[in-house]
Amino acid sequence: MTMRRFLIALAAFAADGSTSLVAWAWQKPPEIGFQDTPLLPGGKWHVHDGTRPQPPVVTPGTPSTPEAPGKAPSDAIVLFDGRDLSQWRAGDGSPSGWLVENGSMIIPPKGTKRGGPIFSKQSFGDCQIHAEFATPAPAKGTGQGRGNSGIIIMGRYEIQVLDNYDNLTYPDGQATAVYGQTPPLVNASLKPGQWQTYDIAFTAPRFKPDGSVESPAYVTIFHNGVLTQNHVASLGSVVWRAVAKYEKHGAKEPLMLQDHGDPVRFRNLWVREIKNIEQP
Ligand code: MG
Repeated sequence: MTMRRFLIALAAFAADGSTSLVAWAWQKPPEIGFQDTPLLPGGKWHVHDGTRPQPPVVTPGTPSTPEAPGKAPSDAIVLFDGRDLSQWRAGDGSPSGWLVENGSMIIPPKGTKRGGPIFSKQSFGDCQIHAEFATPAPAKGTGQGRGNSGIIIMGRYEIQVLDNYDNLTYPDGQATAVYGQTPPLVNASLKPGQWQTYDIAFTAPRFKPDGSVESPAYVTIFHNGVLTQNHVASLGSVVWRAVAKYEKHGAKEPLMLQDHGDPVRFRNLWVREIKNIEQP
């Protein structure tokens, strides 16, 4: 009998002295599932095994509208809710100079002293990332010079943010490209100034003790709800005009947003850490 059931039994007895309630409290919880079924590969759980850990309950968030950001799921780590940059820092650890206006965090204008990349104070490994952004309207510039930013996971693996609406550029530099490696499956970009969403599932790379790669980073991305990357392996840390390669790093690293000199705005940024409850 667990302490909880014992206390329930005690409370029931104290309330009316009913022995039937005490007997109820002694009963085993109802059986669920099966253990007389074949073992699944790995040999730990049976098919329909009721003793497997129950997945934690999460209250889903609400979707955003063009006018207002939605709500994050109950177990998300909210990195920006429209109010302040308390979850962020500049590269040197000082407060970031990105602007906060009308519920958005905005890359400061070119030449501003306090621009530069912005880093989350918290570090992440395997995770789900939700980000919303709007590129400047009216659009300015062409190719990579138009509404460029980036969601740089673990400070290394760039998912390109770009105004890719009617704007020709090299495919592995398009919106939701694994920059310099893998173009998106389709171009699902919205017009400049419209709020767009990235929903990213990221698996961090694993390294052997000698620093070589045991398994690469993997990324799956939905752009405005459309699948644009389907479990794609990364070749390594983002580079320009070169082939990416891996350098060993921590199991968790900060999320970084790129300042490419264009005043891209972000809102409703949250991360959910991916935890496998069966492999603590
Ligand atoms: Mg970029």
